[in-house]
Amino acid sequence: MQCLDCRKDVGSQLTNEHLLACSGLTLQEYALRHHLPLDMILSTDQINQADDLSLYRKPGRSVNKLALDVLAGLEMARALKQHGEFTIVSLGIRRLEQLLWYLESLCSLGFQFRQEYTYEDSTHRVIAKNSLKIPSAWLASQIEQSSTGSFLQRLSILVAHIGEIHAGYLFIDFPESKDAIRISDHLERNFHIHLKHLDASKHENGILARCKTRTDSSCLLSLVKEYLENIPVAKDRFFGKYDQATVVKELVFDSAHFITDHPGKCANLHGGRYAMRVKVRDQIDPLTGFVVDYGHLKQTVSRKVIAKLDHQTLNYVTAGLSWRSSTELLTVYIWENLIEYLPGLTELQIFETDRSYCSYTGPKLHELQKRGQNVLLDYFSSDNLGKSGLRWLLHQDMRERLKVIG
Ligand SMILES: [Zn+2]
Repeated sequence: MQCLDCRKDVGSQLTNEHLLACSGLTLQEYALRHHLPLDMILSTDQINQADDLSLYRKPGRSVNKLALDVLAGLEMARALKQHGEFTIVSLGIRRLEQLLWYLESLCSLGFQFRQEYTYEDSTHRVIAKNSLKIPSAWLASQIEQSSTGSFLQRLSILVAHIGEIHAGYLFIDFPESKDAIRISDHLERNFHIHLKHLDASKHENGILARCKTRTDSSCLLSLVKEYLENIPVAKDRFFGKYDQATVVKELVFDSAHFITDHPGKCANLHGGRYAMRVKVRDQIDPLTGFVVDYGHLKQTVSRKVIAKLDHQTLNYVTAGLSWRSSTELLTVYIWENLIEYLPGLTELQIFETDRSYCSYTGPKLHELQKRGQNVLLDYFSSDNLGKSGLRWLLHQDMRERLKVIG
């Protein structure tokens, strides 16, 4: 077999040892560089190998402070997973440098790096997994030791590991709500940075937190900037500039509605299928290759919109639609329901039939925060309704006249 990097004959199989000496690459990176399936470059004795506890050496007593902070940050991100006799931290191959940065401090605790290759029945191919691993028995006391440390260093690890930036807003999906509350309180009290808690965490007991404003986002990022800049890859995600793209998700819902005071047939209660296109425009995240994951987009729209509107009478869902649930007002209502979660929202289209649709681009999140709910939706819910100087005409002593008129 010939190594495509150095063109030397490497015998019957290409090994990590050869690649590290020749190009510094791991086998998975080599496979990606030369766009080859892993199955083709691995021999069977490299696949599905069990790891061996005896290859790990228990470290001495001295542990550096950074290691404990990294460990505590990863613990907060719930990134330490049990896997057999080992505790592991995994990241995808695009984030290998980040994993190695963790390793630089965590090796003092006994962590080692592994790139392991397994044949997965469900995917019918060999998958590589990049992890830092440590025998679980060694870890418990070290996590205890890490109860105090640098708040900012730990926060930076949390942000680097699970933070995401969308349209200038930093999101952290905290796996545990108590961590979200603790960190939010600390940031508010000590740094006047506000996190908004959103009910869209992908974790059962979690909270999706978003920096409330873009100013909060940039304040938080500058607070941990000196730490994040040390962490390769994280620096790219949070401070790099990349091309933008628009992703579009189409979802449908069935609803009934009627249009009050309308001269045509639409004054009657009738049902229909609405096809909705949600467009989100943002930078392409270099670490995911996505603007926003289509699955996340679908889940957010399903939860915040479809669940409220599907198989409902739109006029009875909210006061903003009670008078006229036109597609125009519907897009405004949906926009306001989504923008907190999808600040890159750039256009909504709602098709009432194949040939009739409404397209709407509403205010950006920072504009909405400044001006409040759209006036188009609040006529019937506004406190001003019923307060005009003309309402005396409807008072008790005028009832007779109203009867005559009516
Ligand atoms: Zn080579």
